Amino acid sequence: MKRLLCVILICALLTGCSWFEQSADVDFWCMDTYMNVKIWGGPADSAAQEIQDMMNALHTTWSAANEQSLLGKLNVGMEVELTEEEATILDRAEALSLRTNGAFNPKMRAVSRAWGFYNLAYRVPEQAEIDAALAQEQWDLGAAMKGYAGQKAAALLEAMKVDRAILSLGGNIQTFGDKPDGSAWQIAIQNPYGEDALGIISVYGTKSVITSGSYQRFFEANGQRYHHILDPETGYPADSGLISVTVIGTDGMTCDALSTALFVMGLEEGSDFWRQSDDFEAVFVTEDGRIYATEGVSLSGCEFEVIR
Ligand code: ADP
Ligand code: MG
Repeated sequence: MKRLLCVILICALLTGCSWFEQSADVDFWCMDTYMNVKIWGGPADSAAQEIQDMMNALHTTWSAANEQSLLGKLNVGMEVELTEEEATILDRAEALSLRTNGAFNPKMRAVSRAWGFYNLAYRVPEQAEIDAALAQEQWDLGAAMKGYAGQKAAALLEAMKVDRAILSLGGNIQTFGDKPDGSAWQIAIQNPYGEDALGIISVYGTKSVITSGSYQRFFEANGQRYHHILDPETGYPADSGLISVTVIGTDGMTCDALSTALFVMGLEEGSDFWRQSDDFEAVFVTEDGRIYATEGVSLSGCEFEVIR
């Protein structure tokens, strides 16, 4: 018996005490996407449940497709009393739009709708319809809310004193805490043309790693491919020569908005934007399969050029 206990203890030490700590691994569907939450240490099960509840609440408030949501009400001109958190989110969305010179535009719901990206009724709208939709300036925070949700989840995990966690929120990754052996979190950049990874990004601690890709949602018509990241200047799918942009940083909402904005800007303008910033790193993948990473990214498993 003593010997058995000894073996168990040694195994537990070798595996970072994972035999004794609580852990949770939960899948659910929220914000129109598949989500997975893995948590180790502390009250893992109840933390996973609280995160799920929090995501659902955010979806109820911020879904642009739902007429009863906060955005649904704002979009029909209703007077709504905002909570402090809601006012902050809307202010931050406006600020990110200014910062990116409009490449991130949180008021393009009518344009996405014209292309059928809302109800999967895909179609190519007439230019006049696109122009009218752009002028409507209807709120849609689809390009920033999953990032915000990840950052809010990290704050919740901190408050609940769990050890570490990794969340996959429909292509967005949020890490929390450090691994017990001191190694990095390894996050794959999806290969748009296959199931494998294009490369592996390593990060430490609590980070948001957020990807916008033209392969995530698209349709084909008249032999052309139309995807869901729209250029606010034209109202057409952004044609910047990129296939995906991954942004890494500590502020989830910023990273999410920037992944969309950098996709619209393209490699050159996006690289200049990075040079003028100090709060994120980025990986760009071009349509011809080249990979470019800003200086601060730890990337492995692929050839790439460094942006300085
Ligand atoms: P996803 O949400 O698919 O992971 P993004 O974060 O890039 O990808 O967000 C794309 C969504 O944001 C679109 O489905 C649309 O609702 C909205 N959107 C499209 N183009 C823009 C843009 N230029 N700025 C802000 N939001 C956009
Ligand atoms: Mg985004």
